Amino acid sequence: MQYERPRALDEAIALGAEFDFEAKYVAGGTAVVLMLQQGLIDPTVLIDLGHLEDVPGITAIEQRDDLIRVGAGVSLTEVARAPVIREWLPDLARAAALVGNVRVRNAATLCGNAAEADHSSDPPAVLVNRGAEVVVVGPNGERREPVESFLVDFLTTTLAPGEIVVALEVPVTEDSTARYTKFRSRSTEDRPCVSVASLAVVGPQRTIDSLHVTVGATTPRPVRLDEVTTALVGRVLDRTTAAEVASSYRAHIEPVSDSRGSAWYRSEVIEVEVRRSLEALAESHGGRS
Ligand SMILES: Cc1cc2nc3c(=O)[nH]c(=O)nc-3n(C[C@H](O)[C@H](O)[C@H](O)COP(=O)(O)OP(=O)(O)OC[C@H]3O[C@@H](n4cnc5c(N)ncnc54)[C@H](O)[C@@H]3O)c2cc1C
Repeated sequence: MQYERPRALDEAIALGAEFDFEAKYVAGGTAVVLMLQQGLIDPTVLIDLGHLEDVPGITAIEQRDDLIRVGAGVSLTEVARAPVIREWLPDLARAAALVGNVRVRNAATLCGNAAEADHSSDPPAVLVNRGAEVVVVGPNGERREPVESFLVDFLTTTLAPGEIVVALEVPVTEDSTARYTKFRSRSTEDRPCVSVASLAVVGPQRTIDSLHVTVGATTPRPVRLDEVTTALVGRVLDRTTAAEVASSYRAHIEPVSDSRGSAWYRSEVIEVEVRRSLEALAESHGGRS
């Protein structure tokens, strides 16, 4: 197996395009190494993205107007600890902090987590809930795409050969409250069985100005049901509305069955976790976390 360590983005793109599906990009390597060890992949060439020198902001977390940009070289530990993320995207900081263990978080990147597209990853629920976009550079130049459509299926994204995620851009919402909760069914270091990201802007008397809820880890891609939550605009965020949303999410989502839980079990947990998430938002309205 060939190992390449390009210093220029063009070189990395050209290598990826040349070797097509025989190439594998490596960022933190936490998923790639496991896939190699388990014999799930057998690439001709590994292309290490950790030495690119000409991608502006690749190791930075930058606040730009109404969004925060996280470069492809930023680890989950850095995401979890960065003051700007903790202040403006506390749900993303929480999701990053709950991934696996400290060794994984120190090596794994946020962009690699999204590019892996494992249905049971933590950050994607938050990224979809906030309408985040991937910034991709490839043989045909740069493009942006919402994470929601970038994630296509189990371990599948819209990335074409030679395309590299150079950053994630996450919108910030003024005067919002947000939560990320992770329900694990096996061990404290496990991936989620069910996860819930919620984000609300609540006016005086707790009336809902906007509300987004995304359930992760239960289906091939995170599920965000805007038709359910937009119908609640103008209503009061309280136990009654929380229970209504929870019941609708349970009814609409057809969960997978796997070693972390059966479809039936996940349906039960979805209803409980969505309700609790929204009750907590109702209690914490007025702050950002
Ligand atoms: C023990 C263990 C426990 C874990 N627990 C959790 C958990 O609880 N929650 C959770 O969410 N995740 C968990 N993970 C998964 C981990 O978070 C991901 O493996 C990690 O975030 C992937 O990032 P990486 O930088 O290591 O990617 P890599 O392993 O380097 O790459 C992952 C995939 O993305 C592609 N890729 C990476 N970066 C780019 C890029 N910039 N452009 C294009 N393609 C790219 C690679 O080609 C590969 O297909 C766990 C992993 C381990 C090993």
